[in-house]
Amino acid sequence: MASQDKPHILIIGAGLGGLVLAQALRKQGISFQVFERTSDSRFQGWAIGIHSIVDDLLEHFPSDMPPIDLTDIFLPLSLPAQMIFYGSNEVEPRYGVQDTGNKAVIRCNRQRLRSWLATNIHINFGSAATTLEEIPGNRVRVNFENGSSAIGDILVGADGVNSTIRQYLVQPDPVHVLPIATVVGEVVLSGNEFEKQLELGYSGYVAHDANSQDEGSGRIFVGLNSVNADGKSGNYYWSVSYIDPAASNLPHWTSYANKARRYELALEKTSHLKSEFTEIIRQTGVQGMSDIQMCLRELELQDLPTGKVTLLGDAAHCMTPFRGEGGVQAMRDALHLSKAITLIVKNTDGSNELNSVMGEYQKEMLSRGGTAVRLSRNEWTKVSQEERSSWGTRRSIIPSKKVILSEIPWAN
Ligand SMILES: Cc1cc2nc3c(=O)[nH]c(=O)nc-3n(C[C@H](O)[C@H](O)[C@H](O)COP(=O)(O)OP(=O)(O)OC[C@H]3O[C@@H](n4cnc5c(N)ncnc54)[C@H](O)[C@@H]3O)c2cc1C
Repeated sequence: MASQDKPHILIIGAGLGGLVLAQALRKQGISFQVFERTSDSRFQGWAIGIHSIVDDLLEHFPSDMPPIDLTDIFLPLSLPAQMIFYGSNEVEPRYGVQDTGNKAVIRCNRQRLRSWLATNIHINFGSAATTLEEIPGNRVRVNFENGSSAIGDILVGADGVNSTIRQYLVQPDPVHVLPIATVVGEVVLSGNEFEKQLELGYSGYVAHDANSQDEGSGRIFVGLNSVNADGKSGNYYWSVSYIDPAASNLPHWTSYANKARRYELALEKTSHLKSEFTEIIRQTGVQGMSDIQMCLRELELQDLPTGKVTLLGDAAHCMTPFRGEGGVQAMRDALHLSKAITLIVKNTDGSNELNSVMGEYQKEMLSRGGTAVRLSRNEWTKVSQEERSSWGTRRSIIPSKKVILSEIPWAN
């Protein structure tokens, strides 16, 4: 980072979008600082599918980045990213999406992805932005909960779904909680149990019954988060979600129910599904029920004021995870914004004035983000398997294949 050169960019939030922006600015030699509310050790969430942007990231990042493959959930093993969708409670035919072998899709462990994105970036942890003010000299000051403050020329709210920066720009806050309740479990599986889960979908799978008339019946998502060093066991997480109008009013009762009640609920809401899809719940047992609360939010903004303060990612357009899009859209925003900022910074003849460049960035970002919000929402509804998309591609039939752990190749 070229410290405190002018113009100086303040990035609020060291999530996926904020760190992608930081890397792209680092490559351009543009001065910036990153501020993050939490500590370095905070749980980052489970796995995330990165698709349709891998080459762009590598192109816009500095050359000192380690290989992106280090973020892969399968390490030390080598398998292609693959997500299967069992939409009619049948094991066959299997619709899904899969990497073609060239790592255009990487299923990343979030902790590893965050570390990779943070390569050679200084993050000011424990800096929760609270207020903003425009100050003389056409600059902006951000104040933090810890009593410190920072001054810059452009401020980017990359601070996620509960964005403080958005609340400075847009009132009342338009984000809303969806009527979908979710309970989560975590379990380590080895040997044959691990093989069975990999067979259902290497990276994970979703099972539900699109033909069920019962709105309250649930769907299960199962994901592999990482493989242990010996290559013989995998760390799994799963969630059972179901429509419940009461879930729009937080807190939902599942947030204060004990583990046993949440375990019962997971079994009850998936009792209509084939036992192979719900086996992982029984493997998890009551003790493996996670206390992490997941509520699904949506935000679609039509417009944003244009100026020195802008947004990217979930702060501007958060969506359901059903198409695996939110993170990729946040990264796409960050790459576009880095280009806009570069235009402003390298503006020598006055043609790239801040308001018009930021206006163009925001227009494209809100339109693309809004489309992704709507498409992600539609994935819950009963469209046919053939019409569904994930990871940026149309789902297709992926035949099942026996998995034998000792035959899976190891990564180089
Ligand atoms: C279950 C689930 C599965 C998903 N799977 C996928 C997937 O497969 N593919 C995909 O592309 N997307 C996926 N997503 C969506 C993806 O996780 C988000 O869209 C993405 O993390 C958004 O990135 P962001 O940088 O905008 O926000 P975040 O990653 O949320 O980062 C925001 C950061 O800002 C910090 N912050 C918040 N407030 C402040 C403050 N006041 N001051 C300073 N810092 C602050 C936060 O601590 C956080 O570190 C999934 C989401 C969920 C819930």
